[in-house]
Parts: sequence; structure tokens; C-alpha cells
Amino acid sequence: MTSLSYTPPAAGDRPAPFAIPTGLLIGDAWVDSATAARIDIINPSTGETLTAVADGGVAEGIAAVDAASAAAAGWAATPPRKRADILLACFYAMMAEQEWLAQLISLENGKALTDARGEVAYAAEFFRWYAEEAVRINGEMGIAPGGANRILVQYQPIGIALLITPWNFPAAMATRKIAPALAAGCTCILKPAEETPLTALAVAEIMRRAGVPAGVINVLNASDPGPMCSAILNDPRVRKLSFTGSTEVGRILLREAANTVVSASMELGGNAPFLVFDDADLDAAIEGAMVAKMRNAGEACTAANRFYVQREIHDRFVEKLVARMGAMTVGAGCDAATQCGAMINQASIDKIERLVADAVAKGADVRLGGKTLEREGFFYPPSVIANVQPGSDILEDEVFGPVAAIIPFDDPEDAIRLANATEYGLAAYVYSEDLKKALQIAERIECGMVAVNRGLVSDAAAPFGGMKQSGLGREGSHHGLIEYCEIKYIAVSW
Ligand code: NAP
Repeated sequence: MTSLSYTPPAAGDRPAPFAIPTGLLIGDAWVDSATAARIDIINPSTGETLTAVADGGVAEGIAAVDAASAAAAGWAATPPRKRADILLACFYAMMAEQEWLAQLISLENGKALTDARGEVAYAAEFFRWYAEEAVRINGEMGIAPGGANRILVQYQPIGIALLITPWNFPAAMATRKIAPALAAGCTCILKPAEETPLTALAVAEIMRRAGVPAGVINVLNASDPGPMCSAILNDPRVRKLSFTGSTEVGRILLREAANTVVSASMELGGNAPFLVFDDADLDAAIEGAMVAKMRNAGEACTAANRFYVQREIHDRFVEKLVARMGAMTVGAGCDAATQCGAMINQASIDKIERLVADAVAKGADVRLGGKTLEREGFFYPPSVIANVQPGSDILEDEVFGPVAAIIPFDDPEDAIRLANATEYGLAAYVYSEDLKKALQIAERIECGMVAVNRGLVSDAAAPFGGMKQSGLGREGSHHGLIEYCEIKYIAVSW
């Protein structure tokens, strides 16, 4: 087993050394589960077991609700400035540990260190952004049109929040929920993904050391999350569910949330189109494609899944993308040279293989890669498949891996129609040097987020979220804070 203890440099005001917790955080203590069951955590770069974490169940779920409930009134009554100071302390504490946290993310998730460092900075930024938002939860006041009374509107903390996160951004998906919840005055229970709980456990310990009071953040791992999350959601003290993960699990949780009419925010799957028009700056489009496709080795909900390229520039685009993706170094997450890390597990590799085989059987050409690497761990190489035919499964399902599927188009109207021909609507990318045209197209694409002439949309200050079956609600920005607020209207006469 790899040693996971942590000893930061002694100098300065860094926190005291701590071993990465492997228990459940309930109230003020790291505890084991009643059954003492544990979940093995695998390093996807090697297939080796890193360590094992406590496996919670229904009893621990209810204990966490008790802890969050005990802390709720005190945290809601904590002055916004104090909440902001604590969140800012979390930002600095997390950034002080950027390198170590990045290594931990790479170890348990398999992503390249450069991607992991970027994730830590992005994740920490939610603490800073929401520290700034915590003191700006302003209400509204108006006069009733009839003139009889004033309309006073307040934003109150919605209550205890259950936060469920996926494995692909183990730090950022957690802080994108925790930070606005805490800024709004809510206490919370985080359920990280089974594959990557260590990062969440480390972030929670950093938060405790930065001054987050006991019970405000609780963390539960679970090998069978259904019954535990169901018990939590059916507890009437819980008033918020925020989920990031697959659309399939999102649908199950929405049904569960209906029992107690819990407010639900859903960040679900994507199937991002990447449109390149013949008036695009081709080199800029290739740079953007590399980010949109290869950040996190394609394991991102915003990852470009379908490249629609206008025929005049199609062959040159394919050629250049093959050259760039083919030059990438594939390797273990923690190796400094790695640019494309491991996939999360064998099921992920199986899905990529299935989608590529289906596309090829329906007429696509493999221009690069296209075959699982035979080595320890779970590795699929950067791959380009061109001439992908309508009806191929890869155009419907997110591949969630380093595979670029390319389709030529002639008529821009066709490109827009094809981009919208999916149940998903999370992110899209448009490349054209004609900004008027690009913005007109961006308005017509049925997605929550459109990147124009760039390959990255994520920003703590911007509203992140999807249309159609990609989700409900937004994270990040002021909108992300309002998801954790109840709107209270008081009619006043004076
Ligand atoms: P997933 O299988 O849906 O799992 C997400 C989380 O839900 C995990 O913590 C999982 O726990 C938990 N879960 C599964 N079944 C549950 C149940 N019945 N009750 C309560 N919790 C349950 O998704 P994933 O494979 O981890 O992540 C990949 C997906 O996330 C992709 O579809 C991707 O597009 C999406 N995603 C979306 C966004 C966004 O912002 N829109 C961001 C990142 C990822 P276990 O780990 O124990 O199964």
C-alpha cells in the first residue's frame, strides 16, 4: 500500500501535519462505520489498492443529519462576515496544500498532475468567491402595486443540504457545492464518489483546521449509497439536494427528492458539440479542441464529444488534431511527464471500447489510437475517429474519454440542428472569426453554456449548469448561492 500520510514543511503558519482521514466525518469526529466495513480505494494508474475508507450506511446517514441539525441554528446565525472569513481561510489553507492535494487527486483519480493542479486552484476558488458572496446576500423591497403595503423579500438559508459528487473532479465538485451552502448559512452532508473519497476527506480536514465548526460539514462514504441517501432525503430536516453525476442517477434522486419535496439542483451528463466554421482561426480552434477534449483526459461533463467541422477545413482540422493528440504523453497520473492520465476504471474503458467499435462498424475511420493500451492500470490513448456516421452511439452517449469523434458539415443550419439533436444541453463550443455569426449561433444552441472561440467555460464566477436533461439549477456565481436560499416574502404595512 502507498503511504498516504502528510507532512507539510515546518515553516510558517501551515497547518500541523495530519494523516489523510479514512473515516466518516460526523459532527466533530472522524468515526468508523457501525459495521466496520471498508471500501478499497484503487490507483487507476496501476490497479493497486491505495488504502481503504470507512463504509457508511443508513445509521451513519441519520447520525450525520443529527450532527448537521445540531449545528444548523448556530451556523445560520453566524454573522455573514464571520462565515466569509472562515471560507477565505479555507481558500488559503487549500491553496497552501495545492501540490500535495494535486498528488492525492492524481493518485486516486489517475488524472495528470497538471490537470490536478488546475483542479485544486479551481476548487479553492469556490471558497474565495463564496467568501465574497456571503456578505452580499441582499434582499429586496418594493411597494405593492395597490399601494397598501411594502413587499419585503429576504434570502434565508434553505436548511440541511445533501451534496453528492462524482469522481471526475473530486475536489472541485465538492467545493462548488460546499462553499455556497456554507456562505448561505446551511450545514451539509457530503457524499463523495466511491472511487475518489480521499480528496474530499482531505478537503474536509483542511476545512476543519481552517475553522469550520463541528457539524457544519459532514462527510459520508458509502459502497451502497442508495439506501443511505434515501434515508437522508426522507428525513424532514433535510431541505436541499445538490447532485453532480450521471443523468441516470439524477433521475433516481429526483424521484427520491419528490417524497419530501426537497429542493433539487442537478448537474448531470453532457454531450458537448464543438462547431468549427470555415472562417475560424484553425490554429486557435485546435488549441481550443485540445482543452475541450483532452483536459482531464476527456473525463469531464463539459468535454467536447462531437466535433462538427465545415467541409472546407475538415481535412486540415483532422490532420492537425491527429498530430497534436498523437504527440501527447500517456502515463500514470503522478508522473511529471504525463499529459493524458488513466481512465477511472475498467467499466470506463469498456464503455469507450464499445462506443468506438460501434462507430467503426457504422463506417467511421480510426485516424489515431482507437485501441486500449496493454499495460497495468486503465489506459486508453488519445484517439481521433473521423467520418462518424449518423446513428452512431458515440453521438448520443458521452464517451468520457480521450476520443474525438469528427463529422464534416456543409450547411451551418445543419451544424446547429445536429448540435441540438441530443437530450443533453450542458456545454457547446463555437469557433468562427465572425463574432456576430458566432454569437447568433451561440444563442440558438440548446445548452446552458457556450464557449465562443475558447475551449474552457468553467469559472467560479460564472453560472455553470445545463438545459434539457443535463440538469436543473446553476452552480458558481451569485446564482449558485441562491440555490441554497429560501425566498421569504414579508408583507408589511407601516
Ligand atoms: P454517477 O454514477 O451518477 O455517480 C455520481 C455520484 O452519485 C457518486 O457519488 C455515486 O456514488 C452517487 N450515486 C450513485 N447512485 C446513487 C444512488 N442511488 N443514490 C445516491 N447516490 C448515488 O456518476 P459518475 O460516474 O460518478 O460521474 C460521471 C457523470 O457525472 C457523467 O455523466 C458526467 O457528465 C457527470 N458530471 C456532470 C457534471 C456537471 O456539472 N454537469 C460535472 C461532473 C460530472 P458511487 O460512487 O458510490 O456510485
